[in-house]
Order: sequence, then structure tokens, then C-alpha cells
Amino acid sequence: MTAQRIDGNALAAGIRAEVAARTQRLVAQGLQPGLAVLLVGHDPASEVYVRHKVTDSQEAGFHSVLQRYPADLSQAALLGQVQALNADPRIHGILVQLPLPAHIAPHTVLAAIDPAKDVDGFHVANAGALMTGQPGFVPCTPLGCMKMLESIAYPLRGKHAVVIGRSNIVGKPLALLLLQQDATVTVCHSASTDLKAISLQADVLVAAVGKPRLVTADMVKPGAVVIDVGMNRDATGKLCGDVDFEPVCERASWITPVPGGVGPMTRAMLLANTLEAAERVAGWVS
Ligand code: NAD
Repeated sequence: MTAQRIDGNALAAGIRAEVAARTQRLVAQGLQPGLAVLLVGHDPASEVYVRHKVTDSQEAGFHSVLQRYPADLSQAALLGQVQALNADPRIHGILVQLPLPAHIAPHTVLAAIDPAKDVDGFHVANAGALMTGQPGFVPCTPLGCMKMLESIAYPLRGKHAVVIGRSNIVGKPLALLLLQQDATVTVCHSASTDLKAISLQADVLVAAVGKPRLVTADMVKPGAVVIDVGMNRDATGKLCGDVDFEPVCERASWITPVPGGVGPMTRAMLLANTLEAAERVAGWVS
């Protein structure tokens, strides 16, 4: 069996085009979606992510604001900026790029963002909404993973989904989304024992760990759908996921590549969430 690829680049392009078209309609009504991105310090990976977010939002037709601060910015000053953006009617989405410098408590900063502008979906109000099946903003990476499963019309009901990784931004919210679709969900993590015995039961296997080639072919049930969230550099500096791609392709039915899989979908879902925040203000979404 050679797995079919779920093409994140193509799917994301479709979502970006739809967001741009809906943005034009909103702008014609006098409301331009606005996204503010706050970057504290100079983490090299964060610099790249932030640059992408700004160019993506400009290309979508958004009002795009980038606020850069030195690494020694005080927590109080950052909270002040967040409050100002909460009150700014031109801004519908606020994103504080993580990680923050050690002297700033991320939970305190995320809690200061107006949940209606929390397009990353990290505020406890949105996390609680997801947990209880209420409307809210869902974190972009898990949302992108679900769109990828949707794109292949995969029937999750009654299927066993195994999520490796339990972070607040990927593993846990994705487990809840899979549960909402009636999958039977197992979440594995760094203290799980005999990962292979569990992963071999997975109809849908998601790797969100951050370890190159953690998922080898002998850990994959024949015919499984494999979603690779990992973003790592291999020994040669090449971008790779958590899945040993070529051998796993011989076992899986569908697989997401890295690069060109979950990454572009995460970027596209940020645009979709920001547009939705603006459409709610316009009364187009309840
Ligand atoms: P994290 O470090 O917060 O969480 C990693 C998780 O993996 C933890 O829950 C940990 O318990 C688990 N883990 C660690 N070692 C393990 C092992 N040997 N077996 C089983 N579980 C183990 O990371 P994160 O923020 O969730 O990100 C995970 C990966 O996904 C990283 O590579 C990150 O770069 C990538 N990522 C990609 C995107 C994207 O858009 N493609 C977005 C977010 C994160």
C-alpha cells in the first residue's frame, strides 16, 4: 500500500482564497478584519512565524498590525498593550506569539486577551467552550488537522484515534475535537508505556511530539490515516515531522507530509478564525 497524500498546501490555498473573498464582502460593508500580532524578544523561530502571519493577513486583505517589543519588556507593559488592543475597534484578532521571555507568565497574558478576539483559542474561556461543546475559537493547528480529515471525508464515528502529545495547543484540543466527532480517543504522552501497542490500534494516528521519526512503520496499523503535526530539523537541517515518512507511506492509507501538511493549514486557520471574529462583530455569525 502506498498512502495518498493529504495536500496541506492545496487545502490551505483554497481556505485562503475563501477568506479573501469573504473579506472583500465584509470590507464592502465597511468592516475590514484586523489582526494584531505581538512579538516580545527575538526568538528566531517566532520571527519566522510572525512574518508569515503578517504577510498572510495582508494578502487576505486584513488590517495587519505587528507590534515588536524588546525581550526585557515588563509583563505590566505587555498587559497594557493587550488591553489597548482589546479596546481597539479596528482589531478583531489578537495573537501574542509564544514562547514569551521567562519573566512573563503566558497564562496571565493569554487571560488578558478579550476571548472574542482570542483567535489562537488559548484563553481559558475558549478552551472551556471547546471542552463543553460551546461556540468559541478553536486553536489553529488542531482545527487544521480536522479540516484535513474532513477533506478526505474520513468517517470518524466509532473509529479509534490515537493522539501522541498532550499539549494545550495541539494534543488536548485535538483529542476533544475528535471526541466531538464520535471517535474513541486515546491520548499518549511522555509517560505512556508501550506506545507501539497503543499506536498499532489507531485508525487515525496523530503525532504531535516534536521528535523526528518517533513514529516508525512498525507502529502503524495497515490502512491507518496518519497526521504528522511535528516540525523538526533532521541531522542535515532539513524540515521533517515526527513520522518516518517513506516507510510509513507503505503502511498508511492517507498521510500528511512535512513540509506541506499541517503547517500551511495552521496558518490558514488563523485567517479563518480572524475573519470569523470580524464577522461576529458584523453580526454575520452568532
Ligand atoms: P510540546 O512540547 O508542548 O508537547 C509535546 C508532547 O509530546 C507532550 O505532551 C509530551 O508529553 C509528548 N511527548 C514527548 N516525548 C514523548 C514520547 N517519547 N512519546 C510520547 N509522547 C511524548 O509540543 P507542541 O507544542 O504540542 O508541539 C508538538 C510538535 O508539533 C512540535 O514539533 C511542534 O513544532 C509542532 N507544531 C507544529 C505546528 C504546525 O503548524 N505544524 C503547530 C504547533 C506545533
